[in-house]
Amino acid sequence: NLAVSEGEILGFLYTKGIRPDGIQTLDKDMVKMVCREYDVEVLEAAPVKVEEMARKNEIFDEDDLDKLEDRPPVITIMGHVDHGKTTLLDYIRKSKVTASEAGGITQGIGAYKVLVPVDGKLLPCVFLDTPGHEAFGAMRARGARVTDIAIIVVAADDGVRPQTAEAIAHAKAAGVPIVIAINKVDKEGANPDRVMEELSSSGLMPVDWGGDVPMVKISALKGENVGDLLETVMLVAELQELRANPHRNAKGTVIEAGLHKSKGSVATFIVQNGTLKRGDVVVCGEAYGKVRALFDDTGSRVDEAGPSSAVQVIGLNNVPIAGDPFEVVDTLDIAREKAEARAVELRVERISAKAGDGKVTLSSLASAVSAGKLAGLDLHTLNIVMKVDVQGSIEAIRQALLVLPQDNVTLRFLLQATGEISTSDVDLAFASKAIILGFNVKAPGSVESYADNKCVEIRLYRVIYELIDDMRKAMEGLLDLIE
Ligand code: GDP
Repeated sequence: NLAVSEGEILGFLYTKGIRPDGIQTLDKDMVKMVCREYDVEVLEAAPVKVEEMARKNEIFDEDDLDKLEDRPPVITIMGHVDHGKTTLLDYIRKSKVTASEAGGITQGIGAYKVLVPVDGKLLPCVFLDTPGHEAFGAMRARGARVTDIAIIVVAADDGVRPQTAEAIAHAKAAGVPIVIAINKVDKEGANPDRVMEELSSSGLMPVDWGGDVPMVKISALKGENVGDLLETVMLVAELQELRANPHRNAKGTVIEAGLHKSKGSVATFIVQNGTLKRGDVVVCGEAYGKVRALFDDTGSRVDEAGPSSAVQVIGLNNVPIAGDPFEVVDTLDIAREKAEARAVELRVERISAKAGDGKVTLSSLASAVSAGKLAGLDLHTLNIVMKVDVQGSIEAIRQALLVLPQDNVTLRFLLQATGEISTSDVDLAFASKAIILGFNVKAPGSVESYADNKCVEIRLYRVIYELIDDMRKAMEGLLDLIE
């Protein structure tokens, strides 16, 4: 860590004519230059990034590390209802069909590949076909991380709305880079600058204003600037160094599954590592089987599918669930055993979730803090999803909470938004080990039981003082005083 602020370093880079826009990482030469300027020794680290990613995603094995090759990015489109997600997806898909002359409308399989021209080359990327953050959150709550980049669509005539904020929270909590599409710029009353202001005040600073979030003004309806948007997405992808080892058995995630009249169980896989081949034996969740046929996103039969491809798989004995991981194994016997073991594991998980093991609650936080105090250590972080009745409450509660002494606990707000508590909030809280605070809002019965099942604590308040007081007690480790 340098004892120099980020702003100062940015300032220094500017004086050298370098504008690190949209780039969160500096290349080696830049780092060396900065270190020289501030008289800091440069330690050349081993290229750990891929290994770190490997550990984080658990998709790579040690053996893969020297066989990695570039793979296309997988992209999800999110945003508030009516802001133009479907129109954008349709435009991208349509332009792709005419471009590749694939001909005819094909049955959607949940994802499709698009070729984007960048610097005279055509680079592939894959779009997930279910827009909206609900699907994203539900997948994440199941432990799946498929998306590499999130495009968040904001209508220029409407601005940042509750579901925009939710989408941003989901992407941020998952650590997925965001590209903003400011849509409907063709419309009367469109005000892209206002959107940029709103986004910057919610923590997303546009590249054009010296921040690191790319924002592209488009009209999804007319297709204006959609090319620029895709190119920007590809640039962000490049910085991520997305890679996989195509020369191994496939692993990945189920993104869609269902029962077909004549084909039986039909599942769409995103291959995240390795290459899936016809004839392979796969296990996914509690389902398994031999891959009888593979279809790509144009509906054509294929023999194999490499990293980042979406393929429809026929041959499973059962219908898996979106978010289930899949892997190729050597024999059907092994597959059956693994599927059965997985079924047992899931039952145990359900039971222990019911028992509340590891549930994050204000009480568990309080006892962790008091135990930490006894041991003379520990700084805890409490992740919070906050839903309130009106915008004004957000700042009031936030300010009151942030002035509480944070010696033992740091508060981290994943989402602060208006509106009822939803299953999507529960997914966010579950995947990020957060609690949900509601102020003057309700949680519908169905959401409450959903949260119960997932062991997510929802605390509802009508009086600000009570909310703050509970939080204070928990943060000071005063367990008994809560509940
Ligand atoms: P979604 O709910 O986010 O999927 O939004 P839709 O794609 O269904 O779009 C909602 C409405 O906005 C539709 O009537 C679209 O035709 C319209 N719309 C979407 N993009 C644009 C745009 O760029 N310009 C204009 N004028 N209308 C758009």
